[in-house]
Amino acid sequence: MDRDRILLTPGPLTTTLRTKLAMLKDWGSWDGDFIAITARVRERLLDIVHGQGSHVVVPLQGSGTFSVEAAVATVVPRDGHVLVPDNGAYCKRAAKLTQMMGRRATVLPVAEDQPISAEAVAAALPIDARTTRFDALIAASGKCLEGVPGMGFVFIRQAVLDGCAGHSQSLAMDLFDQHQYMEKTGQWRFTPPTHVVVALAEAITQFVEEGGQPARLARYAANCATLVDGMRQLGLKPFLKPEHQAPIIVTFHAPAHPAYDFQRFYQAAKRRGFMLYPGKLTTVDTFRVGCIGAIGGLEMQQAVNAVGETLREMGLTTAPA
Ligand SMILES: *Cc1c(COP(=O)(O)O)cnc(C)c1O
Repeated sequence: MDRDRILLTPGPLTTTLRTKLAMLKDWGSWDGDFIAITARVRERLLDIVHGQGSHVVVPLQGSGTFSVEAAVATVVPRDGHVLVPDNGAYCKRAAKLTQMMGRRATVLPVAEDQPISAEAVAAALPIDARTTRFDALIAASGKCLEGVPGMGFVFIRQAVLDGCAGHSQSLAMDLFDQHQYMEKTGQWRFTPPTHVVVALAEAITQFVEEGGQPARLARYAANCATLVDGMRQLGLKPFLKPEHQAPIIVTFHAPAHPAYDFQRFYQAAKRRGFMLYPGKLTTVDTFRVGCIGAIGGLEMQQAVNAVGETLREMGLTTAPA
């Protein structure tokens, strides 16, 4: 079967045909056409966060973690100190990379099923969390903008970045230098992921056509509701309370049945055209299903149906077909 499976994973995710088609051309990294695409992508990214005038955006080659690491290396002075509220694996990763780069990191442990409260952060810092504005915000191409993976981008307050020269102990991860070079030449400092950039440009065009952030959020929220409702009917319960659940990816408790095995469960769902995602919690057995990507209610209902068939095939349910 040569048909693309639907990725119910939080990046890479399912992209549209238009976004895939955008990758069928080759681009010179120094060429004016590609420079214009980079400039346009940066401008539109700033528009999305309403950062024009206050912030700049610095794209960087690599996955999201590369941009997290570069932001810490660039924004935090070498003798700086970072507070990492920790309610899961990505937080532990952020603390680890901070320490590996020689910065002090203090971890504020939070349970994996709890959000991080502004009060807890305020209590750990002697500053007023209500007035803390964001100085740096990190995201990646292959997430909710529905591009393909391969680059991240960091929004940094202009006034903050101005003071970041020489902070980075890394050459390739220095966002101050990356920004300076890009401002001066319009080009990326080192070879850009050209196909990823043009795919992101095309994905952002579709994001705007769809109605921007509110429309994207509404589609993901509807996907999430279809998924959670359908899975509940199959007896599968979300790990988080509904008030803490974001409509990006849902962690479900694994079926409490001795015959359950994630690998078999995954393979059976894949044969039906849907790729699930393993859990990442330390103490509870879970699996995850993404709600993001170029998919809608129909695909989510089909995914639920595939999970239902999988449960019946594996003998994990007594629910009628
Ligand atoms: C995606 C993501 C990252 C980066 O992960 P990569 O695999 O490096 O792209 C880091 N933190 C969070 C919360 C994320 O969602």
